[in-house]
Amino acid sequence: MKPFPRAEISSRALKANLKRLRQIAPGSKVMAVVKANGYGHGLLNVAQVLTDAHSDADGFGLARLEEALEVRAGGVSARLLLLEGFFRSEDLPLLVEHDIDTVVHHVSQLDMLESVSLSKPVTVWLKIDSGMHRLGFHASEFEGVYRRLQQNPNVAKPVHLMTHFSCADEPKKEFTATQMAHFNALTQGLPGDRTLANSAGVLYWPQSQADWIRPGIALYGVSPVAGDLGSNHGLEPAMELVSQLIAVREHSAGESVGYGAYWTASRDTRLGVVAIGYGDGYPRNAPEGTPVLVNGRRVPIVGRVSMDMLTVDLGPDATDKVGDRALLWGKDLPVEEVAERIGTIAYELVTKLTPRVAVCLD
Ligand code: PLP
Repeated sequence: MKPFPRAEISSRALKANLKRLRQIAPGSKVMAVVKANGYGHGLLNVAQVLTDAHSDADGFGLARLEEALEVRAGGVSARLLLLEGFFRSEDLPLLVEHDIDTVVHHVSQLDMLESVSLSKPVTVWLKIDSGMHRLGFHASEFEGVYRRLQQNPNVAKPVHLMTHFSCADEPKKEFTATQMAHFNALTQGLPGDRTLANSAGVLYWPQSQADWIRPGIALYGVSPVAGDLGSNHGLEPAMELVSQLIAVREHSAGESVGYGAYWTASRDTRLGVVAIGYGDGYPRNAPEGTPVLVNGRRVPIVGRVSMDMLTVDLGPDATDKVGDRALLWGKDLPVEEVAERIGTIAYELVTKLTPRVAVCLD
């Protein structure tokens, strides 16, 4: 028997999305971003699916050392990059031992790299702050930092170069073009690979594709841009969040449902109780009317989402029964649309699923 709720992950969709991204960025290698448990799709699931002879990613981007070590332990030999870099000098021998690249974005990391003696140099991606102002070196610091890395025997040569976009998901904003111009001006003529583009860069700013692209959300078939869908770009959602009805109830006009009793039926109807709630990562603040697909039919959430359950208005003529399938998001109910209804982004919905949701790779 299949567990529920469950996130059904399509390995075929993941592979197809990687292939599609390669078509969109034909000149670039792909650093598939699998941090945060593969955006909720299962870290090892995704890394292993994208490590086979026909659909290899060229590398994987991770946020934390622990994630990279898990991927290596899972038998993945592709390039791994810590997108936030290392935090402690004790981490450096582990990077060497497991052949993990690191971003360097802060002077404290330069100091640590100079204070250790390593058996082999570490591969470094120097992060330039081209306008995001979160991590990275400012233009005025760049030359000095680059020189320190060049002179450091613990750092493999050439040093690679990267930046990150703050507004690429707003295609009408010129800010991304300004960021690209800053990055290109600073790094012109230097050896080493370059990477700028997240998913929005890949899809909307082709000039940013460079040597490597770093798609996260697009790999999972989801668009990073408000009002857009992954399917508009030939991408396919890799996750279906599925549960089932655990009760179907007759409900009279004037009766309320759930905590706070703030929704009241305006007509006699049937309510379905779906086994998923905020304890599974489905947002408690999903407003009335957020769609759920029951037996392929869109029905609205009514009443407040509780820890283990939510209620939907199945309608007076509904014939749905206990055990019937309920889809919270997936191919026929895009997560982008659900996120917009809830007032968040698809990234948050997929990454916030809790361990109670079984992640099932097909
Ligand atoms: N590169 C870096 C440095 C990131 O932090 C992220 C994710 O936040 C990505 C790439 C992937 O971004 P997206 O999921 O928007 O493609």
